[in-house]
Amino acid sequence: MSTRLVLLGTGGGPTPKRSRSAPAQAVLVGDATYLIDCGNGVGRQLALAGIAFTSLRAIAITHHHSDHNADLGTVLQLAWGADLATPVDIYGPPPLAAMMDAFLAFAGTDIDTRIADEGRPPLRPLMRPREVAADGVVHTDDRVRITAARVDHPPMHAYAYRIDSEDRSIVISGDTRPCRSLIDLARGVDVLVHEAMHLPSLDLPLSRTNGSRLREHLLGSHTSAADAGRVAAEAGAKMLVLSHLVPGDAPIPDEAWAGEAATEYDGPIVVGADLQAL
Ligand SMILES: [Zn+2]
Ligand SMILES: [Zn+2]
Repeated sequence: MSTRLVLLGTGGGPTPKRSRSAPAQAVLVGDATYLIDCGNGVGRQLALAGIAFTSLRAIAITHHHSDHNADLGTVLQLAWGADLATPVDIYGPPPLAAMMDAFLAFAGTDIDTRIADEGRPPLRPLMRPREVAADGVVHTDDRVRITAARVDHPPMHAYAYRIDSEDRSIVISGDTRPCRSLIDLARGVDVLVHEAMHLPSLDLPLSRTNGSRLREHLLGSHTSAADAGRVAAEAGAKMLVLSHLVPGDAPIPDEAWAGEAATEYDGPIVVGADLQAL
């Protein structure tokens, strides 16, 4: 069974953008799909990628910033509307279980109506939230093993995830500043998908009222493209994919992103694009 990675959304930050959808990755192993993060528009991106909603097997959320979780409930509700019939394991930091309950209340009118009116089964039993409280293996099935490692994204409780299948290993950094736990998780990995900021381009989008606070957050809780390269090099990752690009809507050429990372990493570098399959 071959494993494919599809970058569903590659733009970081909470504001919707013309050129990049919000962060989400699909790992496809045979006919099973594993989602890492569910930014806004993930359902639409799955449709554009031709990935069946009924193939969803597990979802892992790195942290509860809206660019990573805005459509977590929605994608499950929409998958259910598209005849999802098997339970989906959902992993993420607390308060994941309470958030899923709140979502079911929010969506209750639609869900109850479709059950009564269209004869659909209940949605709740298909959603299996499991809060991640510590590092280690969170999910195992006949296709993959998913391992979580706490990363450094203050003030959030945040994880990176590693997916190991029969033929491939993939790490998704989520949001983090450079940290040892991510380097350890990504040791020798086939593909490291890492968030990246293009520091020279940050001034313009930040010229707004909360600009200085936002800059402080970006520099203290995120990773530059060059540092993403350094993390990939230290981990011995076989390929670096830059994603969660910030700024995600600026006309920065791929060579500029890759050039920054290449100052620290001499392996293959991919500048992620929406719907790119790797
Ligand atoms: Zn983010
Ligand atoms: Zn974040």
